[in-house]
Amino acid sequence: MKKIAILGSTGSIGTQTLDVVRANGDIEVLGISAGRNIRKLEEQAREFHPRLVAVWDEKAAEELKIRISDLDVRVLSGMDGLLELAAMPETEILVTAIVGMLGIRPTMEAIRAGKDIALANKETLVTAGHLIMPMAEEYGVRILPVDSEHSAIFQALNGEHKKEVHKLLITASGGPFRGRKREELSRVTLEDTLKHPNWVMGQKITVDSATLVNKGLEVMEARWLFDMDLEHIQVVVQPQSVIHSMIEFKDGGIMAQLGTPDMRLPIQYALYYPHRRYLDGDRLDFAKLGFITFEEPDMETFLGLPMAIEASKAGGTMPTVFNAANELAVKKFLHREIGFLDIYEIIGQSMSRHTKFENPSLEEILAVEEETYRWIESRW
Ligand code: NDP
Repeated sequence: MKKIAILGSTGSIGTQTLDVVRANGDIEVLGISAGRNIRKLEEQAREFHPRLVAVWDEKAAEELKIRISDLDVRVLSGMDGLLELAAMPETEILVTAIVGMLGIRPTMEAIRAGKDIALANKETLVTAGHLIMPMAEEYGVRILPVDSEHSAIFQALNGEHKKEVHKLLITASGGPFRGRKREELSRVTLEDTLKHPNWVMGQKITVDSATLVNKGLEVMEARWLFDMDLEHIQVVVQPQSVIHSMIEFKDGGIMAQLGTPDMRLPIQYALYYPHRRYLDGDRLDFAKLGFITFEEPDMETFLGLPMAIEASKAGGTMPTVFNAANELAVKKFLHREIGFLDIYEIIGQSMSRHTKFENPSLEEILAVEEETYRWIESRW
């Protein structure tokens, strides 16, 4: 039995990870965790019998403790709970399906404890890639990408030599507002934004997809995961979400990974790498599909992508500011406190006022995150 723990088991990636576990029957889930959704955690604890459940919210943890007192399980809370879950002695893989920069510390803890990381939480590499990747190498752990684009590249790299890669081609659906212009974006609502054309995902990443911040975060993540410079990473809009990403090799040959939009595939691939398992569900039917189209991303309208590239080029603490500003802006947008275009405004202004410094430590990254939040809260 493979043994895993899941950070963020109640979310979109977390529940789909448990779907994969359920379908295969040979993975033991030793730890699960969430922010405060104890109703779902209770359900999951009763079905998967983990040894540890970590809940961020202390009160919710206390309530869960009572609700599942008949089970042989420890319930912990706060960051200490997440850190203990990340480094549980018997787990082999930690699935990081938590949302936001909160994932950095537990991911580092797991690496130090020698766990492979099935990485969904892109904010970790975006802000702390310069710490995480060398650490993974030092401790001999694998970072197995779960994001569909990075998994596609990871799959296409199988049997190839990394140094023969010329370019990464990251595909994008373009989000729900593809084809619209800036003026129209000033009128879009939260409901419009949460309607992703192809993927069903958590709310934060769905908003990020609409702003193209998500694509920007993916470019930043790919840079660390595959050790590529930004000049050799290109975003291609492919609205049908059939090609999940591609590699162009030095000889011009292109390798792509295709499939229906189903996150269970990259999750399962990460959990069983380098093996593949049967996965039920729809298969691509090319005759029905008929065509696949391509476009350039509209960088004038969807500023999330060019701002991410700018932050990544600047490096140091700038990606942290970009990411933290986006996290808080999206939270405000989800609470209907700001409009869609204000997300770009908040990120842009946060970056302009920041004086970056190189090679930040974890403590410095977290301090810059806090400082960015404080500044935004004082103005919006
Ligand atoms: P969701 O919002 O659906 O789930 C987030 C999970 O994190 C939930 O389990 C949530 O618990 C938990 N969480 C939130 N706050 C805390 C906290 N303070 N402490 C502990 N746990 C917390 O997100 P997604 O599953 O969509 O995304 C997760 C990550 O994966 C993100 O980084 C995203 O960018 C990335 N990703 C997602 C994809 C997708 O298809 N969804 C695709 C590729 C990457 P609770 O339920 O209690 O709030």
